[in-house]
Parts: sequence; structure tokens; C-alpha cells
Amino acid sequence: LKSLLKNPDLVCEQTYVNGAWIDASNGATFDVINPARGDVIASVPDLPRADCAAAIDAAYTAQKDWAKKTGKDRAKILRKWFDLMMENQEDLAIIMTAEQGKPLAESRGEVAYGSSFVEWFGEEAKRVYGETIPGHMSDKRITVIKQPIGVAAGITPWNFPNAMIARKVAPALAAGCSFVIRPASQTPLSALAMAKLAEQAGIPAGVFSVITSEDASGIGKEFCENQKVRKLTFTGSTEVGRILLRQAADQVMKCSMELGGNAPFIVFDDADIDAAVQGAIACKFRNNGQTCVCANRIYVQDAVYDEFSAKLKEAVEALQVGDGLDDGTDLGPLIEPKALDKVRDHIEDALSKGGKVITGGKASDKGAQFFEPTIVCDVTSDMKVATEETFGPFAPLFRFKDEDEVIELANNTIFGLASYFYANDLSRVIKVQEALEYGIVGVNTGIISTEVAPFGGVKQSGLGREGSHHGIEDYLELKYICTNV
Ligand code: ADP
Repeated sequence: LKSLLKNPDLVCEQTYVNGAWIDASNGATFDVINPARGDVIASVPDLPRADCAAAIDAAYTAQKDWAKKTGKDRAKILRKWFDLMMENQEDLAIIMTAEQGKPLAESRGEVAYGSSFVEWFGEEAKRVYGETIPGHMSDKRITVIKQPIGVAAGITPWNFPNAMIARKVAPALAAGCSFVIRPASQTPLSALAMAKLAEQAGIPAGVFSVITSEDASGIGKEFCENQKVRKLTFTGSTEVGRILLRQAADQVMKCSMELGGNAPFIVFDDADIDAAVQGAIACKFRNNGQTCVCANRIYVQDAVYDEFSAKLKEAVEALQVGDGLDDGTDLGPLIEPKALDKVRDHIEDALSKGGKVITGGKASDKGAQFFEPTIVCDVTSDMKVATEETFGPFAPLFRFKDEDEVIELANNTIFGLASYFYANDLSRVIKVQEALEYGIVGVNTGIISTEVAPFGGVKQSGLGREGSHHGIEDYLELKYICTNV
């Protein structure tokens, strides 16, 4: 891996805690595997829970001085970090593809996307405005100020090894919080490379630390039980989100949760079908279907069902499966063997209940963790894919008759993260965008992520928002000051 990089020092085999590069106190390590080839590309420290507690102590101490800096001073350092990430975009992308598998073009895009949060929230650091409220009595003056919550702890998944961290650490640091992150154990190298650049940018010791550890539940408990942590931010499954919320309840910790989705993608009969096909490809097959905003259920109206499926088939058959580091690859490997099991299970379940394969449907000959992009038609609500997130390259096509029916089907889920639809009739567009019970609606687009907009879900898809001017609020407390004059 190092030989592919301009700056080989970005591959770190120690972790970054309290401004120092360290090993685990017990010397333990774990391997990082390239999912395309199955080979070990690095080993990183496997920190025990006690080492995590030490990182939290350091974060607690460091946060006091960090919060005292002006927003402008914090902004300068974050800007430097952003610049360094973009200067090293290619190296960060190669590291990401090596540990996560996504095509290099997507990794470059993710580094730019992740970095954009550091730029954005650095700018927002200067705009943490309070307010004055006319007093309720003639001798009272009311002011409201915003202050950092304190130490924030984050837990992130493997599907966006840079952006999921950047979306959390940037608003936290901008607000004046310190931050301790536990990246997913499949993808620690991207987190460590970010820490290397954070150090160079001048982020003070202890303000940002990385806990590489295979003990997910032990570190999760430390984050929830340690009284020095005042904020928990998590991206991952709804199942683990529920565990963390229960644990965090004991000390009434503030929580932000970006959890699972089950995104509907609706194609109405007045849609531009070519645009809908393009949108479906981008939205379903990005990161090989391994994102929480990927289309999980594709609903197509009767009159355009055959046209849409034929065009989607053609587009899917043009996708190249392969090693993300090779030119021309559109779909890399899945992250691990159990991810393939889930894709297979959803496809077999659909076929056993009347679904028909249009293309794909089986493992790819590219290697152990590769699967062919698959479309199944005649999918119905009694199949697993209607209620569970596949997280893989399987596009199920449901058929519907009218607006009211599809709105009901789309909303019939415990999830409420992203949703998409294609239509052109103005009143239909307005009716549907308002009726979808989702935190995010893409209208005639399959790509919705940007640092300037609030990303987050309703129902069991989560709590809080990341990105936009709203995103920093998740790391701030309001203080109301009543002054007697
Ligand atoms: P995914 O299927 O995307 O890995 P998970 O919700 O299982 O989703 O994992 C998201 C992150 O949460 C990962 O970093 C994982 O290691 C971590 N995690 C899993 N279980 C727990 C737990 N009980 N406590 C804390 N973190 C956990």
C-alpha cells in the first residue's frame, strides 16, 4: 500500500491519542484486510477499554482550552486541516479503496465530500450566535448564549471511512468540543490518516483522538458510562443505535444517531425515464449499494414499468465489477462475506415468492467478495427486501398503480432517512414531497448528499442532523441568563 502513495507516512500502524502515536497498552493489534483481494494491508493497535478511558481524560482536559479559543482561531486550524486533506486527496483515496473496496473515483469523491464538512464547519465556528429576548419583567434582561457540550465521542461505520468521521468531528471541533472517535475496525486507516493531517494542521493534543479497537461493545460502554463524555454521536445500524441509546440513558447523555434506512425510489408515469434510470444507478449502486441512503425499494408505475426495467437492465449490464484500484471499475467488492450472505438471502427470498431475475443474481467471478449487480422484477411487499435494508447491489422492482397507493407503500416502514421520486407534474411533485415521511427527499435526483444541507432521518432512522448551519447545534448547549438590573 505504501508504495502506491506520494506520502507513505499516511499509512499509520499506531493510533493517535492525546497528541501522541501509540500502541495498545497491552500490545494487542488487529489486521486490516483489503476486501478485493483478501490480503492483510496493515495492522493497527487494538486498544482495550482502559486506553479509551485515558483518551477521554485527555479530551476532557484539552477541551477547556480549545473552547476558550475564538471561533476564528478554531476556524483557521480547521481550514488548514481541510487544505491538507485536499492536498493529499489522492493518497487518502488510495488508502480508502485499499481498506474499503470502493472504486477510486468514489474514494476521491468521498475525500472531497468529507473535507467539505471541515471547511464548512470551520466557517460556521464564527457564527455561533446567541440572542437577546425582551424581559418578562421591567427589571429583567434575558440573554441566551451557546456553549460547547464538552467531550463528544463518535462511533462510525466502514461504508464511508472518511466522511462519516468528518461529518461529526468538524462540527464538534468548530463548536469547541473535543472529540474521541472509534472508527469501524474494517477501516481504521482512513481515520488514522485524517489524524495525521489533523496533527499537522495544529489541532492541539487531546482535542481529537482515535480509538482503534476491535472491542466495539466495550468501547461503546466506555463512551456511555464515562461521566466525562457529554455527547455521543453514532452512525450505523438501528439495532446498535438502540443499544447505545439505552446505555446512554443512564447518564442522560445527548445523542445524535444516523441509523438505518429503507429508501423508496419511485418512478411515476410522467417521469423522464432516462433520467430516472440514471438516478437509480447512482442511488442504488453507489458504493455497491452499501449506503444508508441507497434506494432499497424501487417502485415503478404500471404504464412505464416495462420501459424502465428494460433501460435499467441495459445500464446495469454496462457496470464493470472489479478491484476498486483498477481503472474503469464501477462496483468493487462487498465489505465482508456476511454482506454477500444478506444479498443472496434477499434475492433467494424474492425468487421463492414469485420474483424474476432480469440480470445478475449470482456471485461474480472476480473474487470471493464480489457479487453481480442484480435486478429482480415482480417484487411484492411480502418479500424481505420490502422491510429490510439489503446493503448490496440488488435492485428490486415493485409495481404500483396510483399516487396514494405508492405513498402508503413508501411510508410503510419503521425507517425514514432518504426517499426519492421522479415525476414532472407540479401538483403531484408537491403532494408527494410533502407526504413522504422521510428526513430527506430527492426529487428528480438520486444524489442528495452535500455539506450545506441537513442530513438525517425521522422515525427509527435517527436523531439530529449533520451538515448545514443546523449541524453545529448538535454540539452546542443553550444557556439562558436572566439578569436582574
Ligand atoms: P454496520 O453493519 O454498518 O457495521 P453496525 O451498526 O453493526 O453497522 O456498526 C456500526 C459501528 O458500530 C461499527 O463501528 C461497529 O463496530 C460499532 N458497533 C457495533 N456494535 C456495537 C456496540 N454494541 N457498541 C458500540 N459500537 C458498536
